[in-house]
Amino acid sequence: MRLSQMLFVTLRDDPADAEIPSHKLLLRAGYIRRIGSGIYAYLPLMWRVLQKVSQIVREEMNATGAQECLLPQLQPADLWKESGRWDTYTKAEGIMFSLIDRREQQLGLGPTHEEVITTIAREMIRSYRQLPLHLYQIQTKFRDEIRPRFGLMRGREFIMKDGYSFHVDETSLKETYQDMYQAYTNMLRRSGLAFRAVEADSGAIGGSGSTEFMVLAEAGEDEVLYTEDGKYAANVEKAVSLPIDAEASQFTTYQKHDTPGTDSIEKLCQLLKCSPTQVVKNVLYQTVYDNGMTVLVLVSIRGDQEVNEVKLQNELTKIAADYGAKTIIALDVPNVETQQTWTAKSLPLGYIAPDIADEYIKGDKQIHSQFVRLVDQTTVDLKNFVTGANETGYHVVGANWGEQFKLPIQIVDIRKARLGDRAVHNPEQTLFSARGIEVGHIFQLGTKYSQAMGATYTNEQGEEKPLLMGCYGVGVSRLAQSAVEQSYDQDGIIWPVAIAPYHAIVTIPNINDAQQVQIAQQLYTELNQAGVETLLDDRDERAGVKFKDADLIGIPYRIVTGRAIANGKVEVVERATRKSQEIVIAEVTTTLQQWIAAAIAAKN
Ligand code: ATP
Ligand code: MG
Repeated sequence: MRLSQMLFVTLRDDPADAEIPSHKLLLRAGYIRRIGSGIYAYLPLMWRVLQKVSQIVREEMNATGAQECLLPQLQPADLWKESGRWDTYTKAEGIMFSLIDRREQQLGLGPTHEEVITTIAREMIRSYRQLPLHLYQIQTKFRDEIRPRFGLMRGREFIMKDGYSFHVDETSLKETYQDMYQAYTNMLRRSGLAFRAVEADSGAIGGSGSTEFMVLAEAGEDEVLYTEDGKYAANVEKAVSLPIDAEASQFTTYQKHDTPGTDSIEKLCQLLKCSPTQVVKNVLYQTVYDNGMTVLVLVSIRGDQEVNEVKLQNELTKIAADYGAKTIIALDVPNVETQQTWTAKSLPLGYIAPDIADEYIKGDKQIHSQFVRLVDQTTVDLKNFVTGANETGYHVVGANWGEQFKLPIQIVDIRKARLGDRAVHNPEQTLFSARGIEVGHIFQLGTKYSQAMGATYTNEQGEEKPLLMGCYGVGVSRLAQSAVEQSYDQDGIIWPVAIAPYHAIVTIPNINDAQQVQIAQQLYTELNQAGVETLLDDRDERAGVKFKDADLIGIPYRIVTGRAIANGKVEVVERATRKSQEIVIAEVTTTLQQWIAAAIAAKN
């Protein structure tokens, strides 16, 4: 492609609304254009990158025996009602775009495709002989994200590879899961990314089977905790660890203390001169179930620890049936205003004890009249602890479970693991923290969808069984931008060779020099014919402008038909290292072919 004929517009300055380097660079270098919030046009250079990433993904998927297909983006609401996800996905903070057609039928724009694929499986898979089966697609997804941001990182329209597998049993599901683990590892390595596979939260479905693939970068929205021995890595949402030991309590008798102005653990510990590890702190949450029922939750956790809201949400989902519901649609710490909607009298906030009376709740049809009391395991072994006295300005000390406070039946792990904690597998190892961009997620679904939607098969014994399922997603557009987030310098993007839009750019410093032009055109033709994807910068611009643009768009090799042509040579510059060398014109094509092959092979 000749730059003179391309829609090639680069920006000198950082666009105002872009916060992270990759977003700024892709906009400045003319790869993408913002059309609306979370909506981007992939311009020709970007489209080439996306095609390359897609091709790597496709090759790795096909190598496992998965088959490519293309499912509809427009999905009938009925399917989502069958799986029970319509309300969660369209109401409150739901992320599905929904619409009503001219026949008054409700439809959604696909944020994911479990319902569609399960319908197909239900209709087409009859026998164990057809299994296992794995279908995937590479397609645009729609999600009405609450906070679209960072360009392609969190778009409302983005490209995903999603695959769904069907199995007779756990063993078969785990085999495919392992294959996917390997395929994802290959995809990311081949795309030139530094990444980590981490244990991930699999929601209330539980199970061991969920791994996220995190591209390591400061701009990542996720936190990863890992040990240096390489044996443990998990998303902070899921991570477990051993907290530091609690200090022994200096209180030996149960007493109520006047503790004015101590509505925080810090102030309380200062006043009582005690360690936060001796305190049972009681945190109030409010959750709304999918049937509209509001339930108040009191979490008791050690004073130096924090609640992991993902773990908390999973616990509350497990007990949804107790409230006649299936899932949770909201979970937060109630503010003063929302508290007023359910309190019968004002709460001793900051001084609450684990046994705060249910009478504080003004129960009605929509508000459950009792607290759900969850005790984190960090508090269970505390002796002579400090906690609230259920009276503003007072705490109790020297308290014990089984004496002053009943230990509720629900003892759970809802604490947030954090940097510096000891690892469970080996307490000598401590947890380190890194930021990550989730580019892939593989998941053992089990029978969640097949059971809800009645997708069964007949086994060898002639019995009808629900299909076991796995699902596997890669954010193709997010992955492409992550590559930039990991690889750039002050002058622009440095694409990994395997996913660069072009391998080389031939720059003519002076288009009025007939010899420069002639050699450049000759090289341009020769390189492209030899499979080296090459751009020709034949624009009527100053050489400096052209060099700047070439650096900005990040093409791995720049070939300059400058002064060296007098000696039958051209200058070849490697973008990543800026190493420059003069190469005999006749050898340029084979040299570049070798370099490119070597760069790609190094990652294969
Ligand atoms: P996140 O936690 O970042 O919202 P998710 O858990 O909702 O992601 P999945 O449903 O597992 O994502 O989707 C599979 C992959 O699709 C993700 O690993 C990610 O790479 C990509 N993806 C998800 N949401 C977006 C988005 N809004 N924009 C771009 N890519 C996305
Ligand atoms: Mg995910």
